[in-house]
Amino acid sequence: MSRFLSKNYESLVPYTPGEQVNVKVIKLNTNESPFPPSPKVKAVLSEEVIDKLNLYSDPELKELRNAIAEQFGVTSDMVFCGNGSDDVLAFAIMGFCGRGGKLCCPEISYGFYPVYADIFGVELEQIPLKDDFSIDVNDYIGKNKNIVIANPNAPTGLALSFEDVEKIVSSNPDNIVIMDEAYMAFCGESCMELVKKYGNLLVTRTFSKSHSLAGLRVGFGIGSKEIIDDLNKLKYSFNPYNLNTLSIKAAAAAIADNEYYDDKIAKIVETREKTTVQLKELGFNCTDSKSNFIFASSDKIPASVLAAKLREKGILIRYFNEPKIDNYLRITVGSAEDMQTLVDSIKEIIAEV
Ligand code: PMP
Repeated sequence: MSRFLSKNYESLVPYTPGEQVNVKVIKLNTNESPFPPSPKVKAVLSEEVIDKLNLYSDPELKELRNAIAEQFGVTSDMVFCGNGSDDVLAFAIMGFCGRGGKLCCPEISYGFYPVYADIFGVELEQIPLKDDFSIDVNDYIGKNKNIVIANPNAPTGLALSFEDVEKIVSSNPDNIVIMDEAYMAFCGESCMELVKKYGNLLVTRTFSKSHSLAGLRVGFGIGSKEIIDDLNKLKYSFNPYNLNTLSIKAAAAAIADNEYYDDKIAKIVETREKTTVQLKELGFNCTDSKSNFIFASSDKIPASVLAAKLREKGILIRYFNEPKIDNYLRITVGSAEDMQTLVDSIKEIIAEV
């Protein structure tokens, strides 16, 4: 730390991203897609587009917001785009809870929520999950605080039903409810249609998981025009060009290619189910994940030891050294071949202990 860092940020504990590596490994640690992006993405990144990079990107992001709006049956003034959904979450938590507001979220959830709360001066309540890692909806009914929930939750993979989400949103009319649907494409029940019914709901999504574009950094939020206007007010006060021209073009092409992505998502879900069965046969306890990762634990071998041994074999998975989940592993669903290699490697490791 230098002598110059503001005292306000001295105690900040930053978010720890999953490791990115250059050597060849089986990478199942950051919930990326095993598939390349749609060929239509490559097709729009033409020389003509590159030649125009001397110009600023469109701060209104019209092309991308229109494409997203069309996909979800909303108007483009209900769409806000960010540099990854992290950017959208940051603007939302800053805008609706910052400088002394109140926010609550599940105790075991996406690690960035407490970090944003801290940096924006938000009073955060982290609400414990039930023993089976599910969210108790009653904890959020009439909460009278802003709420952020990942649905499906991470790293547990468990999803709330549409009815339960509606109960939460409808019972907190004077607070913002942010439903973080980063993993929703992998078979949860989206609450997206509720954005037209409730003016206090913001649903966030990302291109990083289902759309194989983690490296592009694009996410979005859909909510009432008033909510989106507020987010834009913050964006224009902080970073008006928060998406670059290449990202705008590529993401607009991706979101329109349902045929390509439906097929890839179906493959990931199929592989998730198959691998879960295989892990259960090996004695693992796995949650009923509705996401592109598996959350698993075994009585035969501590999670930390298994993660280290898999690493020696060139397979990266995510281990969280945190209370209540320190015997669990979060395993991204990779290609069918890579998941078979994972299962075979786990078998070998368990046989050795
Ligand atoms: N929400 C959740 C629950 C996540 O796990 C992630 C990925 N780390 C994000 C949001 C942010 O994803 P991105 O910024 O890549 O859109």
